[in-house]
Amino acid sequence: MKKPAGVELAGIIRKAGFRATKPRLLVLAFLHGIEYPASIKEIITGIGREKVDQVTVYRILEAFKAVGLVAQVDFQHGRAYYELKDAAHDHHHIVCTGCDRVEDFTGCDYDKLADKALSQTSGFAKVTNHSLELFGLCNTCVKTA
Ligand SMILES: [Zn+2]
Ligand SMILES: [Zn+2]
Ligand SMILES: [Zn+2]
Repeated sequence: MKKPAGVELAGIIRKAGFRATKPRLLVLAFLHGIEYPASIKEIITGIGREKVDQVTVYRILEAFKAVGLVAQVDFQHGRAYYELKDAAHDHHHIVCTGCDRVEDFTGCDYDKLADKALSQTSGFAKVTNHSLELFGLCNTCVKTA
């Protein structure tokens, strides 16, 4: 994803209903620059430990998540990973269980799946979100497995 200027980042934050504070700008700029989801630790290291603290970053990510700006991804590592949500281009990740290599894929047929879930259950009125990661072995790890 191309890195937007600071002005654009501030606009994105304001549009989501927040004040464009320095820590929020730093977190958003970092998320714009990554190719694959990052853990809180990676985000803090990437921004610089002297500029933000863990509690602040955690709160910002939770707030961004609540308004749909950020997606939380589970790589089954016992910690959460975060990336910017691109509602227009739904994508998911395939993760190597040997070396943690990550690649993106698209085409999860979310709408069909949501219809299926609603027709097979009786207690739900609508589907509002989805999360899907695939796990496997990359070309390198499959040789040593
Ligand atoms: Zn992604
Ligand atoms: Zn691998
Ligand atoms: Zn999807």
